[in-house]
Amino acid sequence: MNNKTILVLPGDGIGREIVAEAVKVLEWVNKRPGIAFTLEEGLIGGSAYDATGTPLPEDTVTRAKKADAVLLGAVGGPQWDRLDFSLRPERGLLGIRKALDLYCNLRPAQVFAPLLDASPLKREVVEGIDIMVVRELSSGIYFGTPRGVETLADGRRRGFNTLTYSTDEIERVARRAFEAARRRSHKLCSVDKANVLESTALWREVVSELGRKEYPDIALSHMYVDNAAMQLLRNPRQFDCIVTTNMFGDILSDEASMLTGSIGMLPSASLGDANALYEPIHGSAPDIAGKGIANPLATILSVAMMLRYSLSAPEEATLIENAVNRVLEQGWRTADIMQTGAKQIGTVAMGDAVLQALHEEKNQ
Ligand code: NAD
Repeated sequence: MNNKTILVLPGDGIGREIVAEAVKVLEWVNKRPGIAFTLEEGLIGGSAYDATGTPLPEDTVTRAKKADAVLLGAVGGPQWDRLDFSLRPERGLLGIRKALDLYCNLRPAQVFAPLLDASPLKREVVEGIDIMVVRELSSGIYFGTPRGVETLADGRRRGFNTLTYSTDEIERVARRAFEAARRRSHKLCSVDKANVLESTALWREVVSELGRKEYPDIALSHMYVDNAAMQLLRNPRQFDCIVTTNMFGDILSDEASMLTGSIGMLPSASLGDANALYEPIHGSAPDIAGKGIANPLATILSVAMMLRYSLSAPEEATLIENAVNRVLEQGWRTADIMQTGAKQIGTVAMGDAVLQALHEEKNQ
């Protein structure tokens, strides 16, 4: 991997604190043989609004399009809540996803053994779960038209949205999911509501066809979304890779993430054909911003995803994931994942502990 560019967008709230720790890890990776990338920094969200009058400056979009990968912290905060919707920090995030045509959202939900007791479910249910939810991100009911609220002739009001999927939209995200399944245990479960919704009957047809033609090595199954929501709690270990529509993926990936018990631990990747953006799933946590106690591990694990999916450095990705596990095994915890008997540390010390574990791993 040579001459790659990574655009770092710390954003707001705890964004800057957690991204600083992830950058330390990236700098460690950059010293590894055969690896060379350049880190650039840009503005997004409320801090971008304060500096430039818009949550998504044109310069950020231009540089993000040119970059090989984007690492984002988080956006938002109460000081910008009174702004018009078009100027809110969250618009910056939606805007960059749209500008980069990021149609595929990967959200892994993995339980780290030392954190098993953080899950609201019983240890024997969640032990060993390692699920990848692949969510379609740029179409479906969140984007379909017509949409709106109208007043009927008799004075009643009626709200409506449209769930549409075209074959190409289904195929491109399904392809990503089959590829992800191929990198994992060769099992893919496609979730839909084909018994009720025509658009998701088409979804099932297209996914099946693609599987038959191009991915005969992947064991493809189908499940209705209501059953999937139930099965995720009943027996989550039956799942490996899940692919689903935008809204079903929104809901199921949140459900899957809660199996692991901690929002501060979960990374994500949003992929398009030409661009990719990596970010923790949590927000800017204004309640703890500036206190130095935020958990940087979700952002550090987002770096691991970036190395695996955008920078062709799977070995380094695994090193980082192992280092995070080792730090947890050693008993280091930020406040959000603190357990009796563990040792509580802050954001910077957690970043340092991961670096230390990386050094130890390399020397083993
Ligand atoms: P949040 O995820 O920021 O925080 C929810 C709770 O989790 C808070 O108690 C927070 O302290 C805690 N938390 C979150 N991340 C943590 C971490 N790394 N370490 C320790 N604790 C952590 O969600 P929210 O409070 O609903 O939203 C706050 C702001 O973030 C809002 O402005 C919202 O719009 C924005 N937001 C941004 C994103 C994003 O940038 N992708 C996502 C969700 C929310």
